[in-house]
Amino acid sequence: MPINIGDEMGKTESKTDKEIGYELGIPNIHRVQSPSSINTFRQCPRKYFYHYIEQRPTKPSIHLVKGSVAHSVLEDFFDNGIIDEKEYKTILRTRASALLKTRWLSAGEQLKKMAITDEELHFSDLAIMVSNWLEDFLKKMEKEIATGKTPNEAFKVLTPIRERKYVHNGYAVQGFIDAIHEQDGKITVLDYKTSKRDDISDEYFLQLAIYALLYKHQHGKIPDQVGLVFLRHGEKTIEATENMVDHAIKEIKYVHENTTSKKLDDYPQKKSGLCKWSIGQCDFYEPCFER
Ligand code: SF4
Repeated sequence: MPINIGDEMGKTESKTDKEIGYELGIPNIHRVQSPSSINTFRQCPRKYFYHYIEQRPTKPSIHLVKGSVAHSVLEDFFDNGIIDEKEYKTILRTRASALLKTRWLSAGEQLKKMAITDEELHFSDLAIMVSNWLEDFLKKMEKEIATGKTPNEAFKVLTPIRERKYVHNGYAVQGFIDAIHEQDGKITVLDYKTSKRDDISDEYFLQLAIYALLYKHQHGKIPDQVGLVFLRHGEKTIEATENMVDHAIKEIKYVHENTTSKKLDDYPQKKSGLCKWSIGQCDFYEPCFER
């Protein structure tokens, strides 16, 4: 059965503000949380305060630009089918490469503001990531073609639902899911990562658990698998379970309960190696330690 996300989204988004957080019974919920805000609070409550309560901006970062470019390439890659099926690999390689160049050029203003000196190196790094992902995708296509499908049919089967916003008003949480695959009746929810690491850390696990909860709320059942597509290393998936969903609910509740105040003193510093490291520092290091 195809997933009918659009109708379901309309239904949940029509909830009023009064109903936000109604399944938690916590008064004064200030914001709809996301995997990112929840993980920020877990990392350091003071950082959460600066960013989400005071709404101080974060500094522009080359890593964020690269992540954003990679996401948009992978999202738009699936917009069209394949015209010349014999040459499908060449067509798809050319398409990915052209999309990457266009999106990188579009990020030019941001790069200029950051005064990036090694722009070419960053572009090459990104090109390797996109190429890794594409070659994995072409292998998946080959497998589908080996079962008797045409390249266009294989492409269609492997085309995910992309960049969908999911909202759970009852728990006051939302998230954008990068890719949802439905194949042979199995649902896999994926997030793209450009990080150097390739392990499903606690932070990533919580993000996936929240996606499992959001998916279940929308579709009435948890996905079969959740996972991360590490663009440098490949895809890692795990089985989605009810325990994951329970873990997500516990963490969401914890963050809501501890973020009803708007006073700085209620958000303690959690000092760690992430405050300052060899080539950078926390976006809020100055107000945090130098005020
Ligand atoms: S500098 Fe450290 S303690 Fe301060 S907000 Fe950032 S992570 Fe938290």
